[in-house]
Amino acid sequence: MSREQGASEARGQGASEARGQGAPVGPGAARAEPGDGRVVLVTGGSRGIGAACAAWFAAQGDRVAVTTREGPEELEPPGRVLQERFCALRCDVRDPSQVEGAFRAVEERWGPVEVLVANAGITRDALVLRMGEDDWHDVLETNLTGAFRVAKRAVARMLRLRHGRIVFVSSVGAFVGLPGQANYAASKAGLVGMARALAREVASRQITVNVVAPGVVETDMTRVLGEERVGELVGMVPLGRAGSPQDVAAAVGFLASDAAAYITGAVLPVDGGLGMGL
Ligand code: NAP
Repeated sequence: MSREQGASEARGQGASEARGQGAPVGPGAARAEPGDGRVVLVTGGSRGIGAACAAWFAAQGDRVAVTTREGPEELEPPGRVLQERFCALRCDVRDPSQVEGAFRAVEERWGPVEVLVANAGITRDALVLRMGEDDWHDVLETNLTGAFRVAKRAVARMLRLRHGRIVFVSSVGAFVGLPGQANYAASKAGLVGMARALAREVASRQITVNVVAPGVVETDMTRVLGEERVGELVGMVPLGRAGSPQDVAAAVGFLASDAAAYITGAVLPVDGGLGMGL
């Protein structure tokens, strides 16, 4: 497949028509830019960091699909985004058939996914001696195997397109290793190794694979820790505050942008300095 054919497939006939243009031509044609209606899939885009990422891409003019485990029909497009540039899909990343179904739905609507944000994640905190096997497996299956599953599915089409952006959402916990988070830290550290191996495998096709490592971010995930524990963690942050989901979305958006075309296999901390030097 030529670069031009790949770009045409990626953007879909409808997108070209909507811009009042014919098939894209020229050397830059195979690489869709922000604002050019790229096809973006954010796993776990129903709330928190994933929802902020979806809003960020939508604000750039991209077409954004988000996944949630329950009730996709209840999710509204972020901001003033038009309904036709947003879709919410039911997908539990632990279920290969649901992952396949989500990708097919996006492809049928807009074409292949050009930007994947593997964000879906959970915690099941417990000290190792009290951590059940279920807690271990649930976290690894969601955070690591789920990310592997969606990345593998996305890459299959990106290789044909000869472009693509994958961003994994890891955590400062991968490097710090907080007590009670052996399962979570293992899953998030695993993402870094996986991202780097994958980055080398697909680099020749101009697909980049990067990682963001957020610190303490104000979402449902941290709210369950309680104010006191969050206060302790924030007390260790050099910048002196918790991060917002938008702080993380801006970093994800950058890694997915053309400005980051020469960055692959990188880990970008978004943690107010919490993990610096690790
Ligand atoms: P959150 O508000 O709890 O949101 C978690 C998201 O993951 C939801 O959209 C949820 O979707 C989705 N999800 C969970 N299990 C899933 C599954 N099996 N299949 C598909 N989707 C699933 O958490 P958040 O803070 O935004 O976290 C987002 C990512 O950032 C996670 O990977 C997390 O580890 C990472 N992170 C967060 C922080 C922080 O301080 N908040 C720090 C470092 C890293 P539904 O519930 O709608 O199905």
